[in-house]
Parts: sequence; structure tokens; C-alpha cells
Amino acid sequence: MIVYKEPLKNSKMNTIIRNATIINEGKIFNSDIFIKNERIEKISNSISIDPQSNFHEINGENLHLIPGMIDDQVHFREPGLTHKADLFTESKAAVAGGITSFMDMPNTLPNTLTNELLEQKYALAAKKSLANYSFFMGLTKDNWEETLKTDTENVCGVTDDGLYFSKEDGIIANYPEYIEKIFANSNTLIALHSENDAIIKRNTEKLKQEFNEDIPFEYHHIIRNEDACYSTTKELINIAKKYGNRLHLFHISTLAEAELFDNKTTLNKKRITAEACVHHLWFSDQDYKKLGAKIKWNPAIKSEVNQKGLFEALHNGKLDIIATDHAPHTIEEKTGNYFKTLSGGPLVQHALPALFEMYHQNKISLEMIAEKTAHNVAQIYKLKERGYIREGYFADLVLVDLNLPWKVTKENILYKCDWSPFEEQVFQSKIITTIVNGNVVYSNGVFDYTPKGMRLQFSKIR
Ligand SMILES: [Zn+2]
Repeated sequence: MIVYKEPLKNSKMNTIIRNATIINEGKIFNSDIFIKNERIEKISNSISIDPQSNFHEINGENLHLIPGMIDDQVHFREPGLTHKADLFTESKAAVAGGITSFMDMPNTLPNTLTNELLEQKYALAAKKSLANYSFFMGLTKDNWEETLKTDTENVCGVTDDGLYFSKEDGIIANYPEYIEKIFANSNTLIALHSENDAIIKRNTEKLKQEFNEDIPFEYHHIIRNEDACYSTTKELINIAKKYGNRLHLFHISTLAEAELFDNKTTLNKKRITAEACVHHLWFSDQDYKKLGAKIKWNPAIKSEVNQKGLFEALHNGKLDIIATDHAPHTIEEKTGNYFKTLSGGPLVQHALPALFEMYHQNKISLEMIAEKTAHNVAQIYKLKERGYIREGYFADLVLVDLNLPWKVTKENILYKCDWSPFEEQVFQSKIITTIVNGNVVYSNGVFDYTPKGMRLQFSKIR
């Protein structure tokens, strides 16, 4: 179906995609698209190129072209936890899944708590990452002054996400006075994990009396329950409103929380934004019996009422974006009793196929997939020249066949951890080609490892 004038290894060449169905900014239309160097040069039905010049030609007939997903919440585990994952393996899985840019969390080893450590991660990614990248500055109980020095044009933001696993303090959202101090001083985007430790602890103790160490996994969302999410999210929103801060709430998992957000203000004026994650949209508490620890996430997968509520909030604009929270662990780390098994799972390779599956199930439109995974992410982070299919913008593009069923098996999983909660799932839609900064880095199972992703750039004021 796809004809290359040259083999994939010459990905640096200019590319023309003919006759693709483009999904962009609320419209679906047919067009050719010419990519020159890193950027989209022309979107038109009458593009003529000198046939003597060197370029790839991709036949986009029967394929849909979307802006590459910008995933604002991944844990690629490098440095320090590379037995689980690393920047090369997971960025490879990401581009095969149609993710062209990612923002990575600070709970690597050492934790990313100084600007010096942060820059070391950027240096690693420059050598290893196939996708565009940004790394969050880590926020703990003792480093808020260091976070004020974060370079807001070159760093996506400041977050505590994941750090509570290695710090005694627990989740930082549980310290309202400290949060007030940060919000009063910070002028960057702060993204937080919101759950109430005291409620979780109380619920854990109660169930421990009943089950000892062997609490069944279907009680995970009874322990990390709706109240634990709602109470903290409500408090964070109130504090952010008081100071006018730019607050982003990761992985909202309940209907009650989603209801707290504003859908009257246009997105580029919102000071408080929120996201849903693919696993909270796909799974519900009904899946614990079958999948157990494989779907143990924090915040927990919750009831079907909450799952439906998240879709509703995506549709009515209370939830702005969709992310993965890709957080791989080895299968050994996911095996054992409730307390022994770690929370989190791999997702970047299967997030877009799962979203397109939800399109086939009439839960989300194609236009909304592009909006929530690309346009809106670019807007809320004030990302420069990405997230849209526009002339002059970076060519971060994905061709997808909506009707080419394939099954997730051990053999086609690309994560270093080598498992997926989607194993044996048949997806109707398949990512065919992924273009990052104008380079065809993935096509039909073949990768070009040569071109590396770029560091994401942001507007200074957010
Ligand atoms: Zn989190």
C-alpha cells in the first residue's frame, strides 16, 4: 500500500503523502501534504514536485492522517530504573503507537530534584529518544526553591508525580500549607497527582483486618476510593484559584472530580486544566477479577459509573486532554499479593489503537481523538508549533488504517518489560506510519533509529 521512492533508512528526505484523509481541528477532509525538512510545507490537493528531486511518496489512500499524540505523562524509567524500561525502548514503543512527543516524570533514580539532574536527562534523551521529549522538574517537600529556577521555555513544568513512591512524605497534595507556599511563588505550570493519603491509609487498615496481606485486587478502588480523589482535588482547585496559578491535574479517575472543572472558559484562558488516562477510559472495576495486578494503577481503575463520567467530561469540555501515564514494571514486580505488587503499567504502544477502538464503539469521535491527544495538549502546555496539522508547523504525523484488525501478542509488544494489559485484545485500527520532525521513523513494523527526537519548546508565559 505504501510506496517509497527510497528505503526507510533515508528518512531525512522530503516526503509527500497523497490522498490521505486528514483529521485536524474539528474537520475531516481529503488532501495531499508535502513535508519539507522538519516541517509541513503545504497542505493542498494540487501539489506538484519536480519528479527529479529526491522525495518519498506515501500513498495515503484509505488511511487517516492525524497529528501525532503528545503524551504529557510517561515514566520511561531512565536513569536508574532501566531494568523496567529506558528512553530508547519506550520511545520506540511510543512511535510505533503513534506518539510523537512525550513528557516524562521525575521519579527516576536519582529523583529529578535539581536542575542539574534535569539537564542530564535531556542529554540522555538527545542521544536515545526516537520521539520529541520534555522532562518535568520534580517537586518534593524540600526543594520548592530549586523548582523556581526551572527554565519555563525549555521544560514542560514541575510535578510531584511518582515521587511519593520513594519519599516518606507521601503525596504532596496532602500538605495544603506547603502547596500554598509553592503557588504563591511559582510562575510555571504545576502538574499534580491528587489522592488523599489519610483516607487511603484508613481504608487499607480496615481491609487488612479482613484479608491480612491478601486483599483481593478488586478492592484496590475501595482502598483508593472516590473520596480519596475528590477531597484532595477539590482542595487543590481552591488553592490554585486563590493564587491564579497554572495547575494541571493528572489522571482524573472519578465523575465527582471531573464535575469540579470549568467548561465555560476557553482552553487557552483556563488556569486549571485536567486529563483523563486511557486505562481509566478502557477498563473498569469489572476487569479486576480477570486482570488483577496488571490493572493495578494509582489512582485506581474505578466503577463503570466513573468510567462513563470521564467520557461525559471529555465531551462537555471539563476534561481537556487524554494521556497514558505509561508506567512499566517487570512482570515479577507485578506478580504476588496486593501489597507486594507495584502500581502502574505500560501503555504508549496501545493508547491510540485503544482510542480508535473506542471510536469504533461510538464512545469518542475521530475529531475528538485529535483534539484531546494533540491540539489541546499543545494548547495547555503552550507548546510551540506542534499538535496541529498546519503549514509551517513541525511534521509530527501519524497514518492510521482504521480497518486493519490485529491482535496484541507477546511477539509484537515493544516495551522492555514485555507484557501488556491488552494482551490478546484485537484492535480494529493499526498505526501504519509515524513521522517525527519530518522523518519517517516508523512504517509497517520497520524503524529508522537514526533521527532522534527534539527537545520540546514552550512559550515563556503559561
Ligand atoms: Zn500519578
